[in-house]
Amino acid sequence: MKFNTKTIHGGQHNVDPAYGSVMPPIYQTSTYSQTTPGGHKGFEYSRSGNPTRAALESNLASIENGEYGLAFGSGLAAIDAVIKLLNPGDEVISTNDLYGGSYRLFTKIFEGFGIKFHFVGMSNAANIENFINDKTKLIWVETPTNPMMNIIDIKAAASIAKKHNVLLAVDNTFATPYLQTPLDLGADIVMHSATKYLGGHSDVVMGALIVKDQELAKKLYFIQNASGAICGPQDSFLVLRGIKTLHIRMQRHCENGKVIAKYLASNPKIEKVYWPGFEDHPNHDIAKEQMKDFGGMISFVTKGNNYNDAIKIVEKLKVFTLAESLGGVESLAGHPASMTHASIPKEEREKTGVVDSLIRLSVGIEDAFDLIEDLKQAIG
Ligand SMILES: *Cc1c(COP(=O)(O)O)cnc(C)c1O
Repeated sequence: MKFNTKTIHGGQHNVDPAYGSVMPPIYQTSTYSQTTPGGHKGFEYSRSGNPTRAALESNLASIENGEYGLAFGSGLAAIDAVIKLLNPGDEVISTNDLYGGSYRLFTKIFEGFGIKFHFVGMSNAANIENFINDKTKLIWVETPTNPMMNIIDIKAAASIAKKHNVLLAVDNTFATPYLQTPLDLGADIVMHSATKYLGGHSDVVMGALIVKDQELAKKLYFIQNASGAICGPQDSFLVLRGIKTLHIRMQRHCENGKVIAKYLASNPKIEKVYWPGFEDHPNHDIAKEQMKDFGGMISFVTKGNNYNDAIKIVEKLKVFTLAESLGGVESLAGHPASMTHASIPKEEREKTGVVDSLIRLSVGIEDAFDLIEDLKQAIG
């Protein structure tokens, strides 16, 4: 089955054996009747499993070319479950230019439990190997990175992981399986904030993990059930519905992203535009190889790098909404230094390029003309 068919039908056989409804029913129930102890129809308690969540989970597995999908109450809950595979003393090598909430979870929660994190520039994937020792258990990759749009070579990271018998997890939130499928490139775990492109309509907070290996799936399922950070049936339904249009939304996000990246690059008030589709992007060749297109996430810096200039621009935008998050049908603008990355110390964030005037756009699927007019009036 091709991707555009999988988004709609993947894992969706026999979703309603009772009446044949085309959409999976929302099983808004915490428990299931049993005829005799243990005599149930596959579900006994909704933390352990729920048919609406199960329909979503098998769809997630299908679109990422995995075997097992697991849905969580948020992206961070999904990451939390991955780190719980580890033990005190274990080490993780993570991308340095990282979603702020992931950095906070790693450093403020899990370092306290004795897990050590190395934050490493991975634009040259060979750099990962310098940090590997016999305590290393996991490599955590985000690509494209947030918000600097660095591209990390997943295949190269996977071959290092295999060589040292270490797990490779890829946060695929920005790219989505429309653009890249990390399991096909050798990753062991794919993670999503389904809050973003998978849900696609800015109305749900959810996370997901997808794996191929049965043993790994069993361990993650054990954590999902034992720690309990699951999502509810209503939200499962909404994300399943969102995924049905993922491919056509992504196509438009990419088209609009290209037009806007080019417009920004031509504006004399802009110093630099970060978007992997530009030929002079340092890892453009890897982006071209591992991604189908370049996505709708763009960051830029204004000339003079003045904090207040950036604040004025995001305040003036009218079609773009000033808001955290990304990946919805509507265009959003954010100021990482004061918003998504405020939890990373200034010194740390500036090392990776998150300077005072950096603005991040999540380009939506509106008409590109209106988006450009909006940017013109805000930037001047
Ligand atoms: C939003 C986001 C997360 C966290 O997901 P939540 O659903 O907000 O918990 C993780 N990684 C990336 C890249 C994100 O954009």
